[in-house]
Amino acid sequence: MTVRAWPERQYDDVTDDTSTWRDFARCGEVHPETFFPEQGCSPKAAKRICRRCEVRAECLEYALQRGEPCGVWGGLTERERRRLLYDLAA
Ligand code: SF4
Repeated sequence: MTVRAWPERQYDDVTDDTSTWRDFARCGEVHPETFFPEQGCSPKAAKRICRRCEVRAECLEYALQRGEPCGVWGGLTERERRRLLYDLAA
């Protein structure tokens, strides 16, 4: 697994209008399969990367708003996101 060196820039320091949270995603240079593990495979590697991602909150919000059905987003699996939405609605 290859992860680029950080930090290059900080998301909070961005002042131009063209950058988005995706430009700061730590998963950008990691094989997508890491974040979309096959059934029965562990999401731990993805979650470990997410823990150190500065745009984790933005990523999770995006996934929750879109109802992303698969993969690890914002450090949570689809099951964990469903649970979070359930808890927020309660
Ligand atoms: S929090 Fe989102 S953007 Fe950051 S590494 Fe995880 S999946 Fe990628």
